Amino acid sequence: MPAPGALRAVLAFPSTYSIGITSLGFQMVWATLALRPDIDVRRLFTDQADPPHRSIELFGLSLSWELDGPVLLDLLEGQRIPLWSHERSDDDPLVFGGGPVLTANPEPLAPFFDVVLLGDGEELLPEFLDAVVASRGQPRPQRLRQLARIEGVYVPALYSPTYDAGGVLSAIDPIDGEVPATVRKRTWRGNSLTQSAVVTPEAAWPSIHMVEVVRSCPELCRFCLASYLTLPFRTPTLADSLIPAVQRGLAVTDRLGLLGASVTQHPQFDELLQWLDGPAGDGVRLSVSSVRAATVTAELTRILARRGSRSLTIAIESGSERLRQVVNKKLSGEAIVEAAAQARAGGLSGLKLYGMVGLPTETDDDVEATAALLLDLRRRTPGLRLSLGVSTFVPKAHTPFQWDGVRPEAEARLQRLGKRLKPKGIELRPESYGWSLVQALLSRGDRRLAPLIVAIRGRQNSLGAWKQGLRRLREEPPAAEPPPSWDAIVHAPWTPGQVLPWSHLHGPLPEATLIAHRQASLNPVA
Ligand code: SF4
Repeated sequence: MPAPGALRAVLAFPSTYSIGITSLGFQMVWATLALRPDIDVRRLFTDQADPPHRSIELFGLSLSWELDGPVLLDLLEGQRIPLWSHERSDDDPLVFGGGPVLTANPEPLAPFFDVVLLGDGEELLPEFLDAVVASRGQPRPQRLRQLARIEGVYVPALYSPTYDAGGVLSAIDPIDGEVPATVRKRTWRGNSLTQSAVVTPEAAWPSIHMVEVVRSCPELCRFCLASYLTLPFRTPTLADSLIPAVQRGLAVTDRLGLLGASVTQHPQFDELLQWLDGPAGDGVRLSVSSVRAATVTAELTRILARRGSRSLTIAIESGSERLRQVVNKKLSGEAIVEAAAQARAGGLSGLKLYGMVGLPTETDDDVEATAALLLDLRRRTPGLRLSLGVSTFVPKAHTPFQWDGVRPEAEARLQRLGKRLKPKGIELRPESYGWSLVQALLSRGDRRLAPLIVAIRGRQNSLGAWKQGLRRLREEPPAAEPPPSWDAIVHAPWTPGQVLPWSHLHGPLPEATLIAHRQASLNPVA
């Protein structure tokens, strides 16, 4: 229960209640705020909200998907909070954001945030909230400077970008010597990860208790934000952490979800599975997020089928052995075929595969290899329902492929896969190429994107609105600074060493390591 006079906070999620409440990141931040007696927090979703405060002192946004980012503006308008941080007065709330998207590249949304939290909330939130409460009543500029002294707290207004005459970003400097030149992401190293704080039938996965089994992934696929941004790979112990977390959930529901970028990589995953296969898991309906194909065993698929799972999800990225090597996916064609065979033998009815088109160095032959692999799987595992989800490669900050643009050939390659696979009864679930371009704008863009986001607020779900907004910006660029080339943000390869919108924000690995990984992938030593 909040104490009298507690700080009035709103924690928002840029989507509906059912989606937001299924986000472990949102739940973790909400639980951290709600458990403090000095904070009175209310939740806000796009379709419903807790009873509102009469006035707000702190407004937070948890963001895990780039395309949801622009929804922030609708939420701020709904709360009558000025959109731009520089327009807010001492009477307006502090607006903060966190989550993987903002930790990777907050710049397109940076002018709307007073504070961005870089890294793991478990590590950073308590210190940040203590400082927010302690600085209550002080003038806003003074508070922001104090907050910027906390490691991992990024105050965008204290940094100023410079562009050369051609519109290329040339520097992002602190506005004076008191502001740290760079901000380093914070990393949680405790023996616990997140688990559901709320179990509800209204969630996108109804009545499920979710437990995060691992954080990050040791595989280091070169495009993978889930791996590179969250290193090091962390695995809580079974007896002290994971089993108690599972037991807490099973006391209130029979649906259990084991989550993480690569759950089967947990060194005690087999033991956890055995435990769930015993009396402790009687009546439990178990789901696991995407698993590595090489770790799919008969035991795993048998237990999943017995515990109510109908299908298994594995990411293959490409059917081309060469391209999988380029992206550092340590997965052979035989292992994929074996995983499908095990899925069928264990009693699962479906196998969902995930792949990409437009990866660096990809050719039409590589795409053909993906079609051929799926057709081969169909022949070898009759009766197993196959589906392929395909997205377009979108470069992500802090990964070795951050310098590579979206390849226009990807659009035709998505269609090519459809023509090859759909007539053979293989379900193809392509992601929209047009939305991948918007995603790339947000993942590689800088602060000059902010006026576009303001211009299309309320219509950000329309691809036409984005195209129209970009056209208008091209025709009537804002006078204040040289306009960026939108094509340069989305499609152009960038040069290792050039200033990036996130160069002042340090992730887990130094740039030299990312460059070395990229070199190793694109120019492997024979
Ligand atoms: S195996 Fe999956 S989670 Fe791990 S690095 Fe590769 S794509 Fe990312």
